[in-house]
Amino acid sequence: MTRTEQQDALTAARKLAPVLARRAAEHDESGAFPRADFDDLHAAGLLGLMAPTRLGGTGARFADYTDVAIELATGSGATALIFNMHASVTGALAHVPDDVARTLGAPDSYFVTRDRILAEASAGALYAVAMSERGAGSRLSQLTTRYERRDGGFRIVGSKAFVSGAGHADAYLVAAKSSEPGADGGPVVSYFLVPAGDGVTVEPTWNSLGMRATGSHDLHLDVTVPADALLGGVEGITLLLAQVMPHWLVASYAAVYVGVARSAIDTASTYLEERGLTHLPAVRARIGRADAEVAAARLTVAEAARRVDADPAALDTRRWVWRAKLLAGDTAARVAASMLEAAGTSATRRGHDLERIFRDARCGALQPPPSDVCADWLGVAGLGGDPERDTAVPRW
Ligand SMILES: Cc1cc2nc3c(=O)[nH]c(=O)nc-3n(C[C@H](O)[C@H](O)[C@H](O)COP(=O)(O)OP(=O)(O)OC[C@H]3O[C@@H](n4cnc5c(N)ncnc54)[C@H](O)[C@@H]3O)c2cc1C
Repeated sequence: MTRTEQQDALTAARKLAPVLARRAAEHDESGAFPRADFDDLHAAGLLGLMAPTRLGGTGARFADYTDVAIELATGSGATALIFNMHASVTGALAHVPDDVARTLGAPDSYFVTRDRILAEASAGALYAVAMSERGAGSRLSQLTTRYERRDGGFRIVGSKAFVSGAGHADAYLVAAKSSEPGADGGPVVSYFLVPAGDGVTVEPTWNSLGMRATGSHDLHLDVTVPADALLGGVEGITLLLAQVMPHWLVASYAAVYVGVARSAIDTASTYLEERGLTHLPAVRARIGRADAEVAAARLTVAEAARRVDADPAALDTRRWVWRAKLLAGDTAARVAASMLEAAGTSATRRGHDLERIFRDARCGALQPPPSDVCADWLGVAGLGGDPERDTAVPRW
């Protein structure tokens, strides 16, 4: 990505943020998919942000994604979160170098499929992530969705939960476990890109505290997909990808919640001005603390992103990714609560922007890895242990 393209994407996101913000309350209230927001993202070329330029995209790096996601999330956390899922699918596909894919065993046909998926994103296709399940969360080894080889392709049967953008995506990244154990007797968990359509049904279950417009409903799968739906063309690569790409599908949320936290400060500042309360020292101190906390979280996300772009699989990179996720999630919740308290009870009314941001911000620490898990991993690493091996509960 050239500097100009990077600036163009960031400028487009900055211009869109106030437009998304104007629609956010209505989407939150109805829980409706933010269709107009995604039409605008498409028109601005942002659905192709991670696709390479040769496929009509922008060829963004992870750091570019975080800058764009922060801006979008200052307008609407929910829209930025759906965008995050799409960017995770396209970013992971775009960023696995060809030689690494070949070493993992990817056949030639994989590269054709990958390019098609990325070109379609540039042309406006939207991808969602259907990884989590009720009870299992996002722990890959615990998934109950199964697949088996059938008719030259794969039959996938199971149910997913918390699927942001469900019913509005063109295809879903589905994690599923083979009905056959691997050579070592362990589970084989693979990724498929499953097109929306027959055999993919949405159950409208999402009526939750925050991020309501993500429409993160349950998704039921009873579907047969062609062989090229197996991402990477190889079974069982999910754990490996989670290790070499700890940012996508794991912690790219950090940027979203930095943007949400920033919007809490901006919204509270405007409201406090309107109410004539900014002369109060306690109110100013809350704004000051929040400003410092969000700046710290933002710098941590930037450092994590810089390291991801330089050396994604390094242990030090992973530690920065966990720090970023932990700080962003906790900061968003703390800052939004403080801003609401500064603004007073009138800002807790349903429909007030701060009330929505407070609820959206509360979701950051819950998204994987949850804050407690990030803290545990960091603690193990800080004490000289190996988080892959030395945690009480297996990571995946
Ligand atoms: C707004 C929102 C949107 C989402 N969108 C999507 C989406 O589009 N696609 C998708 O697949 N998922 C999505 N998710 C789900 C998300 O990815 C997680 O899978 C889900 O939030 C985790 O499940 P859980 O909170 O029920 O449980 P768990 O992750 O099981 O957490 C329950 C408790 O166990 C603890 N815990 C969990 N793992 C460990 C561990 N390894 N070690 C120690 N303690 C642990 C946690 O800290 C927590 O206290 C979304 C979630 C939210 C909040």
